[in-house]
Amino acid sequence: MENETEYVVLFPFMAQGHFIPFLALAQILDRKRYTVVFVNTPLNIKNLLKSFPPSSSSINFAEIPFDTSDHGLPHEITDSLPYNLIPRFVEATPSLKLPFRNLLSDLIDIHGGEKPLCVISDFFFGWAADVAHEFGVFHLIFSCTGGFGMACYYSMWMNLPHRFCDGDEFLLPDFPEAGRIHVTQVTPAMSMAGENDPFTIFLQKNFVSWTNSDGLLLNTVEELDKLGLMYFRRKLGFPVWAIGPLLLSEEDRSKTGRQSTINSKQCIQWLDKKDPKSVLYISFGSQNTIPAPQMMKLAKALNSSSRNFIWVIRPPLGFDINSEFVAEEWLPEGFLQNIHEQDKGLVISKWAPQVEILAHKSVAAFISHCGWNSVLETMKYGVPVIGWPIGADQLYNAKFLVEQAKVCVELGRGVDFEVTQEEIVDKIELVMGENGEGIRRKACEIQEMVRDAIRDEENFRGSSVKAVEEIFIAAL
Ligand code: UDP
Repeated sequence: MENETEYVVLFPFMAQGHFIPFLALAQILDRKRYTVVFVNTPLNIKNLLKSFPPSSSSINFAEIPFDTSDHGLPHEITDSLPYNLIPRFVEATPSLKLPFRNLLSDLIDIHGGEKPLCVISDFFFGWAADVAHEFGVFHLIFSCTGGFGMACYYSMWMNLPHRFCDGDEFLLPDFPEAGRIHVTQVTPAMSMAGENDPFTIFLQKNFVSWTNSDGLLLNTVEELDKLGLMYFRRKLGFPVWAIGPLLLSEEDRSKTGRQSTINSKQCIQWLDKKDPKSVLYISFGSQNTIPAPQMMKLAKALNSSSRNFIWVIRPPLGFDINSEFVAEEWLPEGFLQNIHEQDKGLVISKWAPQVEILAHKSVAAFISHCGWNSVLETMKYGVPVIGWPIGADQLYNAKFLVEQAKVCVELGRGVDFEVTQEEIVDKIELVMGENGEGIRRKACEIQEMVRDAIRDEENFRGSSVKAVEEIFIAAL
């Protein structure tokens, strides 16, 4: 019970992809008997409290007011927010500095003058370092994305190198080891970025403010993500720890707000009937989708491929992304009926029990948008990837999976690329067919590496387990 009176403050950005690793970190701290104070906005806390009642652990929740209507935005940010509004919310977050200062002061009062051992804030909240230091508290930035992807993203925003490139490819000036970046790997937001663009100004200022912190945590694995870790160690000059994979169990994830729209038993029973390593899983994450013409090509490719599949369909671009409805017009005529009659595919609208699916022995490959949580989950279960990144760090996560981890072939990028039905079938076969032996073997090797990082046994302690311990030695 050595740590029970010590508390740690965690402050994630208000989105599911950030809550998941922060809650997983909270669970590790809870197991180490630290008290956790999880800070977020009232509506998000209300949702989280339904699932993590205060009595179930030492994870406590503290509300911070963030009335975004002051910024001409909807009242509060939650997970169902349209994706294109997120940058504007992110830009508004420095206005949380004063409320966070007040909250920290109140927490110290409530704890009889005892300061938290550490404040760990989201990578969007670099300004929180100044607040923590004002109270003499150790501060860490937590990037819930991987080392390589974050390093490319950081370097791209800081240097905007594509603005000085007149060909198709360029190197990152402070990260040449990352290899050539193709113009199709410049995210739409970056390609529009200029000196006066508010999101560029926000991100550059934010990344500069990281240097006020005492260290950086990355949701990755030391042995796997050496280049990205090397970049930040060289760049920031303070400790950088790889503490991943930080993932929640399916049960805990379903408690964080999103419920599967299919009974997970039904899904597992369907997978149980299939041969080992025979099913392709397709999902574009919690917020992304593809345009209707690409959706049509993908459906046609799945029709002509011999492979079984589970496809999480979200309405294509231009439709209400939160709808749970799958319209026949997005798909070839008779598609849903055919796959049902042949028992070849399972179409799930909106939200699937992804971790249970990836963990199932029948799953052989994953067409993924390469969001970092999905990447960690697929590596943890040894499932190779057919990459279809849409934007943000996903483009660099896909590059990492292809060039560093070597467990992925890339199918396309963004929402504007032309893809043919044949190309999709070819890429599926490249991973699931005879020629995919090498990539499948590599996925199994990576699986071992990822699992080893979090092994905590008497005669073997993984690198991420050791890193978490080092953090608290540094904070003391
Ligand atoms: N997810 C899920 N079911 C779905 C879609 C997504 O459980 O139908 C989960 C997925 O397992 C992952 C998270 O939502 O943990 C998505 O995070 P990621 O970083 O992959 O992508 P994002 O949604 O942030 O773009």
